[in-house]
Amino acid sequence: MYSLNSEIKHLQELGKRKINLFNTELEIFTFYDLLYYFPYKYIDRTKFYNVTEISSDLPFVQLKGIIKDFKILGTFPKQRLTACFSDETGKIELVWFKSINWIKKNIENNKEYIVFGKASKWGNKLNIVHPEIETLENRGNKITAGLRAAYNSSQKMKRAYLNSNAILKLQKKLFSIVKDSINESLPDYIIEKNKMISLKQALKNIHFPENKILLQKAQFRLKFEELFYIQLKILRTQKKRKLKFKSFKFEKIGKYFNDFYKNDLPFELTGAQKRVMKEIRRDLGSEQQCNRLLQGDVGSGKTLVAILSMLIAIDNNYQASLMAPTEVLAQQHFNTICKFLKNSNINIKLFTGSTKIKARRIIHQELENGELQIIIGTHTLIEDKVKFNNLGLVIIDEQHRFGVVQRSKMWKKNIRTPHIIVMTATPIPRTLAMTVYGDLDISVINEMPPGRKPVKTFHAYDTQRLRVFGFLRKQLEQGRQIYIVYPFIQESEKFDYKDLEDGLESISRVFPPPKYAISVLHGRMKPEEKEKSMKLFTKGTTNIMIATTVIEVGVDVPNASVMIIESAERFGLSQLHQLRGRVGRGDKQSYCILMTSFKLSKEARVRIKTMTETNDGFKIAEVDLKLRGPGNIEGTQQSGVPFDLKISNLVEDSEILQHARNIAGDIINDDPNLEKDKNKILVKQLKTLFFKEKSWEVVS
Ligand code: ADP
Ligand code: MG
Repeated sequence: MYSLNSEIKHLQELGKRKINLFNTELEIFTFYDLLYYFPYKYIDRTKFYNVTEISSDLPFVQLKGIIKDFKILGTFPKQRLTACFSDETGKIELVWFKSINWIKKNIENNKEYIVFGKASKWGNKLNIVHPEIETLENRGNKITAGLRAAYNSSQKMKRAYLNSNAILKLQKKLFSIVKDSINESLPDYIIEKNKMISLKQALKNIHFPENKILLQKAQFRLKFEELFYIQLKILRTQKKRKLKFKSFKFEKIGKYFNDFYKNDLPFELTGAQKRVMKEIRRDLGSEQQCNRLLQGDVGSGKTLVAILSMLIAIDNNYQASLMAPTEVLAQQHFNTICKFLKNSNINIKLFTGSTKIKARRIIHQELENGELQIIIGTHTLIEDKVKFNNLGLVIIDEQHRFGVVQRSKMWKKNIRTPHIIVMTATPIPRTLAMTVYGDLDISVINEMPPGRKPVKTFHAYDTQRLRVFGFLRKQLEQGRQIYIVYPFIQESEKFDYKDLEDGLESISRVFPPPKYAISVLHGRMKPEEKEKSMKLFTKGTTNIMIATTVIEVGVDVPNASVMIIESAERFGLSQLHQLRGRVGRGDKQSYCILMTSFKLSKEARVRIKTMTETNDGFKIAEVDLKLRGPGNIEGTQQSGVPFDLKISNLVEDSEILQHARNIAGDIINDDPNLEKDKNKILVKQLKTLFFKEKSWEVVS
């Protein structure tokens, strides 16, 4: 008796070579693995074409008619076999280069067959090479009628005759062996409530669909199940964490907050900022740990939300820390926050890798005796040496640069876990956020401060550079400042540096001193040099900033109105969007110009087009997700979430995902520990599905 755990060697059809190929090419070892190797598409075998209808543009077509006039052409080993296929409407040639003898022996002359294949052009004639041929009698056989599953297989597999059809045949055999050992994996009440078909029905129809409706039902059932268990796992972990970890209760809104809000806040908060502040205050005011992802497009005003949250911590005699991914950004935050809080008497210090030893000593001392109220820094804050008197709030900016493990270290810096707010300017599509940051609550600032003019984005080819320079000159004459960014890819640091140097040279020629001044910023500079360069640009002493992507995050110069991105085709979408966010921060119209060469890949074209069409970070993120798939989106790699989804797709199946999450949420609310009888099957299934994984129970 076989079970789904049996190894595939128990399939008689498979010899050592094929087993080995399944193992190495597809990581298929067991019956289960094979059964859950799903088709990537279905070919409609219900429709028949007439010969006159077909062209080489069509995908696979199915025809019915007579095969005759077999001819062997050429001499061995370059022989080919041809035959004439005809129906009532016309004729087309069939061609074989392989299996010639077999065809000659098995296909009868002048008999009616069903022929299936892709037409291609040969000279000015159409032919079908290596068609599949089936007798009419065989049509009773379900395997080839109706919708036929197509499976991916590698070149190596195809060479060993493990092509799509061979896999389909195996699936058929396998299903007949295991069909009685397929146990239902969802509780009845979920199946009924969602009007789903059984697992057995679903697995059968996913491989051998009886019809389109059953195929859709099979797809829904299997997608739902896959997404549901991930969500159940995430939400259960989140619940456990909430029950286990208590944080500090920030009872009051005090003088620091109120004074700032009344006297020093230079503008009204946007509606979105207010809403998000309410969400954060609700967390901070309870003993529940705030573990929240704050998403907001570049320039949406996250920093201010961070400041207000920190003031609440300080009002309650806790320390707050803000961690940024780079020194430039930490410095920038430090400057901004000091400026906002200049009337408050709060002790704020900056702590980065380049903080001098003497200053460090003071920082350590003040952190430990509690005098230091706000510390702003880079990953230096994570170091074990950094101890706090009473850390209550941790804010992490630009989340995707820090890993889960790094974040977890901040959890341990007080007797209870501090509250955590993670800010990201990379909008992550909701579906992905629900999965990747499933254990974080999410707040979204989806509104820009008033008076912003959306950045106008244009695409220009390198050959149009003179016109671009003309445009830049006009902007400079109006007193604006300009960024010019060059790609920077670590592996080719030298190379990219050269791009930047060449760029600097040509720009200095076009915009020469003393009329124009240029700042440079790149990764090879010392922190002091970087800072000096930044300062000159921020103050407006220099007009043009030539940089690598070091400036990608955080830098805020409202007078800068143009962002030129060189070799824009080499940047990813989220990076382009981040860079564009450096302009459009003042009240003047801003521009982003994407310079590319003429030769663009299809994907690069989509990226550039998307950028010129929208400023909406969430839309851009959706496109990015479609182009690159979830596993390649920044920040997802360390998420611990399995992305080798077998059937569902986080882009296309967002509705099913949302639905699955709602149902999982209801279950966890109703039965947090999954102890009820009706949920036993869920516990069992979670164990089987996730037993391999490292526990991501504790940390978020
Ligand atoms: P983010 O960090 O989300 O990219 P910032 O916090 O740097 O955005 O804000 C961008 C700019 O908008 C800053 O100059 C900030 O002072 C300003 N700003 C923030 N909130 C408001 C508001 N409610 N009204 C007007 N300007 C605002
Ligand atoms: Mg910011």
